[in-house]
Amino acid sequence: MCAPRDAVAAMIDRVEPVASESIPLDQAPGRILVQPVTADRDSPAADVSAMDGYALRLADWNPDSAPLPVAFEVRTGHPPPPLPPGHAAKIFTGGVIPDHADTVIQREHVHESPQTITRRSDAPPSTNLGKHIRRRGENAHRGDHLLPASQPITAAAITTLASVGLSRVKVHRPVRVAIATTGNELGHVPDTPSPDDVSRVSDLGSARIRDSNGPSLRALLLRSAWCEVSAAVHISDDLEHSAQVIGRLAQHADLIVTTGGVSMGDHDHIPAALQKLRAQIVYHHLSMRPGKPNLGAVLPDRTPVFALPGNPVSVLVGAVVLMAPVLRRLAGFAADRPVRLTPLAPASSAAKPLPLWHYRLACFTADGLAQPLEHRGSGDVAAVGRSDGCFELPPHQAADAQPRPWFDWRLDP
Ligand code: AMP
Ligand code: MG
Repeated sequence: MCAPRDAVAAMIDRVEPVASESIPLDQAPGRILVQPVTADRDSPAADVSAMDGYALRLADWNPDSAPLPVAFEVRTGHPPPPLPPGHAAKIFTGGVIPDHADTVIQREHVHESPQTITRRSDAPPSTNLGKHIRRRGENAHRGDHLLPASQPITAAAITTLASVGLSRVKVHRPVRVAIATTGNELGHVPDTPSPDDVSRVSDLGSARIRDSNGPSLRALLLRSAWCEVSAAVHISDDLEHSAQVIGRLAQHADLIVTTGGVSMGDHDHIPAALQKLRAQIVYHHLSMRPGKPNLGAVLPDRTPVFALPGNPVSVLVGAVVLMAPVLRRLAGFAADRPVRLTPLAPASSAAKPLPLWHYRLACFTADGLAQPLEHRGSGDVAAVGRSDGCFELPPHQAADAQPRPWFDWRLDP
């Protein structure tokens, strides 16, 4: 049985990023850049003031100098005329420094009369030449690379993109994911809201369960702007039907994720269905808990398939630990994120170490420590909803003071 990390690496090796498209910048948040972004001009494009104040020649500004006449106000958004000798110009943050001015004195340090300024007695005794001037090109020069290809478009990245005048950007198109749940035990009886709209009444019967894996995967996928759900279907526990549906889903999906039907039961048909479709089975059974029955495969058309076990906690763990890195590769992210380590709450060590990779549900404490969440196995749909994610323990290791790899319930790095 291979380690989860090796399974992920083997799947990543078999996929390529999806194609690109050009979209308006206001639709770009959360998407992934295809090309590096360069500066279209120097930033700033001129020497500008970093303060509200007065632009002047520093030589004209000493403690015993006479009041300095104000020649003009630098109009925001307009190039100013040159500064006449022995004068100052009123300027605002971002205003272009007039020729011959070499320093900006901040407004707080001057007495202002309508036509002149004088130094305040509590102003600093000396000012450096060039103070409060942002130099042309000090952020970047025209042609400089500002953002790399594969950069996720965050609000911060939008700042840079908008600043270089890009109204459209070339990004990877969204990754299309098809979700298929399996299991004849899933009920399809519509629920009726009770009058308080909190509890639900249905005649589901105690032998049947509601589908939580489909909605949970959907929620995880749709949280990322670079991801789309191309289909969400249910497959009955039948080999022919399983093969047929998976084959059909592959036509419009970049990745297929199935839940259930991948273990040792007589009605677990996913492995055989994938074989029937001539998929290459990359791994089946991993040294991990929850999620030992996990299977990863690649169809002949190169669509990767993540067959997750049916238990809801295994689905979430499999999705963030195994599927997410491969989705990110498809989406166009560069090298995968460095594993984020999280410190554990002191009382974490109660559970016995396991001889396999153990993923433990946890919530964050107010101090930012991961506190394991007691739960009753991988079917505990009651407890999992209170968790923030899971941390990873290598085989035979206890949850001790050492920070551990952390996986949020999300696909983005
Ligand atoms: P399986 O891996 O098919 O043996 O499923 C294991 C268990 O997971 C089943 O007995 C169900 O209790 C549960 N399960 C399977 N599919 C779902 C689903 N879509 N939503 C919630 N629970 C599920
Ligand atoms: Mg099943």
